[in-house]
Amino acid sequence: METPENEVFRDSIATVTSEGKRAWIFPKKPSGKLYDYRKMVSYFLLAFLFLSPFIKINGNQFLMFNILERRFNIFGFPFWPQDFHLFVISMIIGVVFVTLFTVAFGRIFCGWICPQTIFMEMVFRRIEYLIEGDRGKQMRLAKQPWNAEKIRKKGLKLIIFLVISFLIANVFLAYLIGSDKLITYITDGPFEHTSTLISLLIFTAVFYFVFAWFREQVCVIACPYGRLQGVLLDTKSIVVAYDHKRGEAENGRKKFRKSENRQALGFGDCIDCFQCVNVCPTGIDIRNGTQMECVNCTACIDECDHIMESINLPKGLIRYASEENIEKKVPFKLTARMKGYIAVLIILIGLLTGMLFLRNEVEATVLRLPGQLYEHKENNVISNVFTYKLVNKTTKNIEDVSFKLMSHDGTINLVATSNTFEVPSQGIAEGTLFVEIDNSALSGDRNKIKIGVYADDKLIETTTANFLGPRSYR
Ligand code: SF4
Ligand code: SF4
Repeated sequence: METPENEVFRDSIATVTSEGKRAWIFPKKPSGKLYDYRKMVSYFLLAFLFLSPFIKINGNQFLMFNILERRFNIFGFPFWPQDFHLFVISMIIGVVFVTLFTVAFGRIFCGWICPQTIFMEMVFRRIEYLIEGDRGKQMRLAKQPWNAEKIRKKGLKLIIFLVISFLIANVFLAYLIGSDKLITYITDGPFEHTSTLISLLIFTAVFYFVFAWFREQVCVIACPYGRLQGVLLDTKSIVVAYDHKRGEAENGRKKFRKSENRQALGFGDCIDCFQCVNVCPTGIDIRNGTQMECVNCTACIDECDHIMESINLPKGLIRYASEENIEKKVPFKLTARMKGYIAVLIILIGLLTGMLFLRNEVEATVLRLPGQLYEHKENNVISNVFTYKLVNKTTKNIEDVSFKLMSHDGTINLVATSNTFEVPSQGIAEGTLFVEIDNSALSGDRNKIKIGVYADDKLIETTTANFLGPRSYR
């Protein structure tokens, strides 16, 4: 069955030609109130993104995602592999938060906050406008043969794009391995750490590929969040929308003619000028309705507002609105689904806050050495051998650390020259220890013992372990 003409847009995407080749998008340079707001938001976010790995709170990097060592810092709060459950809850909170926002306000995240959009639209695209000019000039440059002007402009753009990609790659690395390590590597000289240098060059190449060539296709075909829109949005979600009731009226859209009474003739307010399409960075026509390719960048809102102003019609033919708002003039209100997400979000945040308060800065694990039974020593003393591991999550060394048995009368001896030791800042201390308890104090073959960890004779953590004794003694 042939697709009706007004549904043809569903069969293809704007970035691919009918022959399956790349259709390059040359969006018009946006301008207007929302674009100015987006610029301000982007300056703030770019500063945040570039500075976050270099800001420290209590000695901890503000944001760090060290996947290799499984260490993460979120807002200066360190998460160790032992805190993985907290990290998972934080991630779930992030996902529920973005989902709630999407259900209520569509892809607002994509248009205003996503790093891909910020870098593409607010950094790379703006440099392109500066070097190559606006849409018309860019299209002419693309078509013209390789002359001096084209080589100069394209060459300059390539160099600037590469430098920015390299900068982004460095910051990306600072998030991954930590800014201190990155600075050390830079001061040591890049060839001292060739594997990191290779990673850096690969990241640079990936960023260059994404921003110089792949571009809007990240949002249109690659981003999983974009794919989720179909299940998250409903008719009550606020999205960038064309008011088809007003734009089409009874007899549809029509080119503008001076001194024609459009209302009396039954034509809508859309003058079919195509400016909203020309300005769209994903190349779609928002008048076809909400589409998966729309990143809610608001460029078409600004552009249509300019047109409406120029023909003395009210602004807002394209605006933030829900389908219900356009169809029935229903104002925004919280739906049952949104209330459900809010409830889940509040519960998760409460859970995380409670767990963070209960979390110890030092974590001790004492485990019996596998395969070892107890040893019956002189004077009816029973001895068990254990391994211990102490994790110091703080940024200060913990000195003079010792163990004391809290549940029984007995002794703890480390397999070391001294019975006290140091746990380095953000480090681990491991070793072996013997616990000796008088047999008369034991209550069978399995005994739960409580061990206190002391620093300078101050209790900093407690832990438990199983102590084996002879069965026949009870
Ligand atoms: S910019 Fe506005 S008036 Fe022009 S085609 Fe788009 S919706 Fe219609
Ligand atoms: S349709 Fe409008 S809001 Fe959506 S991507 Fe295009 S210009 Fe941006």
